[in-house]
Amino acid sequence: MSAYQVLARRYRPQTFEDLVGQETVVRTLRNALATGKVSHAYVFSGLRGVGKTTAARILAKALNCERGPTPDPCGQCVPCREIAEGTSMDVLEIDAASNRGIDNVRELREVARILPVRDRYRVFILDEAHQLTGEAFNALLKILEEPPPHVVFILASTEKHKFPPTILSRCQQLDFRPLPTETIAQRLKEVAAREKFALEDAAAHLIARAAQGSLRDGLSILDQVRSFVGEAAVDAAAVSQVLGLPPLEFLVELWQALASGNPGRALELVAQREAQGGDPLLLYQELLELLRSLVLVAANREAPLPYPPPFREALADSAAQVGLASLLRILSLAISGRELVSAAPSPGLGVMVAVGKLALWPRLVRVEALLAGNQAVAPSASPAGFSEGSLPLGASPLEGFLDQVGHKLGVALAARLRSFCELSLGEGELLIRLRSGGPNATAKALQEALASLESLARELDLAQKVRLVVTEAEPSLEQKVAADPRVQAVLEVFGGKITKVEEQS
Ligand SMILES: [Zn+2]
Repeated sequence: MSAYQVLARRYRPQTFEDLVGQETVVRTLRNALATGKVSHAYVFSGLRGVGKTTAARILAKALNCERGPTPDPCGQCVPCREIAEGTSMDVLEIDAASNRGIDNVRELREVARILPVRDRYRVFILDEAHQLTGEAFNALLKILEEPPPHVVFILASTEKHKFPPTILSRCQQLDFRPLPTETIAQRLKEVAAREKFALEDAAAHLIARAAQGSLRDGLSILDQVRSFVGEAAVDAAAVSQVLGLPPLEFLVELWQALASGNPGRALELVAQREAQGGDPLLLYQELLELLRSLVLVAANREAPLPYPPPFREALADSAAQVGLASLLRILSLAISGRELVSAAPSPGLGVMVAVGKLALWPRLVRVEALLAGNQAVAPSASPAGFSEGSLPLGASPLEGFLDQVGHKLGVALAARLRSFCELSLGEGELLIRLRSGGPNATAKALQEALASLESLARELDLAQKVRLVVTEAEPSLEQKVAADPRVQAVLEVFGGKITKVEEQS
């Protein structure tokens, strides 16, 4: 029985073709090899696990392959095989984090002067090269200024900004991008197919998102989940469990509660998740990630949503319905909610409050969408929401109607109705006069909402058939004065502003 080789190693790309997600880098290197214009020093920068050292090894093979230099190393000859195994005498991988001193670099300089043992080039791959000390960088600079013709340096780093500019200016810089979720998910599925085990689409996406741009991390997670499920298929539930993530169905349900302004349901879901032992911080992080994706897809329908198909379309529709402006507000509130979460005595409590606030955020939700969704407001949430209204409302039929509206529309919107409108009951009419004080956009949205209430009133079959009449409020005294051309002329000439308007009796 042979020892198990982890997937990240077994599926480490061996050719430029295999190096997924780094097309620009690959193209640059292939062209350099094809035209014989390989640089003597490269900086490969980017997040961990995106293929920097892998690309460095492929470049080393390309330079030293018996059939090379070539953009397509054979992978079969002795140099190719030794480089892949990390045993080549002429290709040295050095961990700069533990060999960061000047003596290490001096040693390296000595080796660099000597001709290669067997192959064409001596290739030095310095991993985490930004960790070198200032002195070590100076020593390195001396070789880079006059590199021996048989030497190629590849400085790999996750923190390029820590390199001295003198070093950077002597290197060709190639930036490795974080891999798109879709690319990682696709690659995971290919690996599963070759390994002949079942990997659900939703599971592949969940792993890919958790990998955060790193294919290597994605493959490691896949390994972990595989040993968790044994012979069974790798499904989304197993991935969620291993990573401690909330299941996607759950996340979507939570989003729906937020989108429909239903704090009762949202809080219930958060509590439920905590009761199941879910990490509240991971839940909040996943929620932020979801909101971020929704914003992107609301701004551009073509933006890739990092979720599997059945959810992807539903989420894109939902984002379009809620709209970019509202989504940006929700996301920004969610981001500031992180402070709340970290300040709370326990993460669970913090997340509960932050999510509750998110659901209460007054949004410009299209009322048609809300009505179509048929979301019921948790009854316990209603009284607090209604007490926010500042209008004295005496007539009880009106109260009754508003209560119904509250249940139908959501607490937040109903409360806002009251603070922005004057309501009065006429004969078979509910007069809704929008106050002029409110922000225009809100008043406009409310007007739209109110227009749709008419049908709701009928549907609710109120004792008296009310008709809703929406009118703009009379402009205030201040507004009338400010709009007066004579006043405007005076203000323009003297550069003043109106501070107080008083009516003369
Ligand atoms: Zn070869």
